[in-house]
Amino acid sequence: MRIIFSKRKYLVSSIIAVVLFILIFGSYNLLQNNRDAIEKQDRYLTWYGIDVVFSPQEGTLHCKQRVYYTNTEENPITNLYFHIYPNAFKYEDKTVFPPEEMSRAYPDGFWPGFIEFHNIELNEKPTTYTIQGYSDDILTIVLDEALEPGQRADVWMEYSVKLPKSPGRFGYWENTFNLGNWYPILCVYDERGWNLEPYYPLGDPFYSDISNYKVSISIPKDYIIAATGELIGIKEGEDQNIWDFEALKVRDFAWVASDKFITSTMTIGNTTVYSYYYTQQTGEKALDYGASALRIFNQLFGQYPYKTLSIVQTDFFIGGMEYPQLVMIDGSLYEEEQNDWLEIVTVHEVAHQWWYGLVGNDQIYDSWLDEALTEYSTIMYFGQRYGQQEEYRKYEELLDKGRYQLFKVYRYSEDMNESIHRPLYEFEDWFEYDALVYGKGAIMLHEIRQEMGDENFIKVLKTYFENNKFQNAKPKDFYKVCEDVTGQNWEVFFEQWLYDK
Ligand SMILES: [Zn+2]
Repeated sequence: MRIIFSKRKYLVSSIIAVVLFILIFGSYNLLQNNRDAIEKQDRYLTWYGIDVVFSPQEGTLHCKQRVYYTNTEENPITNLYFHIYPNAFKYEDKTVFPPEEMSRAYPDGFWPGFIEFHNIELNEKPTTYTIQGYSDDILTIVLDEALEPGQRADVWMEYSVKLPKSPGRFGYWENTFNLGNWYPILCVYDERGWNLEPYYPLGDPFYSDISNYKVSISIPKDYIIAATGELIGIKEGEDQNIWDFEALKVRDFAWVASDKFITSTMTIGNTTVYSYYYTQQTGEKALDYGASALRIFNQLFGQYPYKTLSIVQTDFFIGGMEYPQLVMIDGSLYEEEQNDWLEIVTVHEVAHQWWYGLVGNDQIYDSWLDEALTEYSTIMYFGQRYGQQEEYRKYEELLDKGRYQLFKVYRYSEDMNESIHRPLYEFEDWFEYDALVYGKGAIMLHEIRQEMGDENFIKVLKTYFENNKFQNAKPKDFYKVCEDVTGQNWEVFFEQWLYDK
């Protein structure tokens, strides 16, 4: 995610920031549902097959979903848990937006989104299930018999999803239907057990495992779909077409539909980068930023392994949002005067393809791990693309604009907790979260880069990527790579930066 503050707050903080900067700091230097398909693929990855009938008129999806889940843990499993995020949009008093964002999230007033199940089967038999969680956002399937290590469960679901009229990750507005976090996705089982965290209003409150997907979407003929994965084909129908997608080794499946999309493409290595847009003048620019970021990050961190990457202009009011192989970009950034932000946000979301998409992490408890790396990767892009001097200029410019100053304003205007490494629910608001996780987080990485030197730093990023791609990493995995590459222990460094209050 890359958030952008509303202009008023931003202006005030920029002024305070510049003043404080001058006063205090000299410098900071800153469904097919047959079993054959799965046998061909990795048996131990969860497999999702979803058939969707989409009605833009009604703002609904009617879905049939099959999930094959293999118990890869050492213990028997007695329940299966799924996040059903559409229900996080069900209740006005429990929405996913902080109070100050409500009017922008629901310009026409609160509009509920939700999911309703019609049938759930386990191993082709009716099964017991319950819906629980803060906003009814966890589906629990009780297994008749424990699932032993190595055994596979076959879950079948029929459900309807109602979209909120809201320009966010999940919802629709004038130009696009945004389908992020729209289907039941398995919770992650790790050393803490099942992770059943709700959809917090701050950060990107998601955590998922690499899986395989086959998704078919029936949609009116005049619509275009941008999605995770590769388009296998389009079956022509009378009123509706069926778009078939396959996505292998990704940790989520998102899509955006619009009857206004214009498409441009560019090839970088083995990847086709797509720009989907409805603002004619700047769609090509978004393509250029996205493709350049892909080329630069391929070199800096390691090869992006997928065949497609889509940069998608959306009705989205808070900057941008990353999903595997697809990024949603706030449509208003395609206005000419927002050009700088279009570049920063597009590059930021593309960097998330490495830090979140390929190397995953728990974005609730370790949000800095992907967010600080992503923010710093964005800075590095400017150096690679326009020259080292430009990297520093951009860095300073961002300082002037208030980006990193947010951290300092925060630091010197309030006597509060400055630790970066906290669960999402311990941050007060977006301002604090942005100042610390993005701002202070990026400054921390800038410091370590200066201490260990450019060459080592790049080697750390490459090694961290190579060792952890297609998995979920923990902070200790990052510390370990720093130590392996430099022969020096960095735990004190990280402890000070991450936990000092
Ligand atoms: Zn982000």
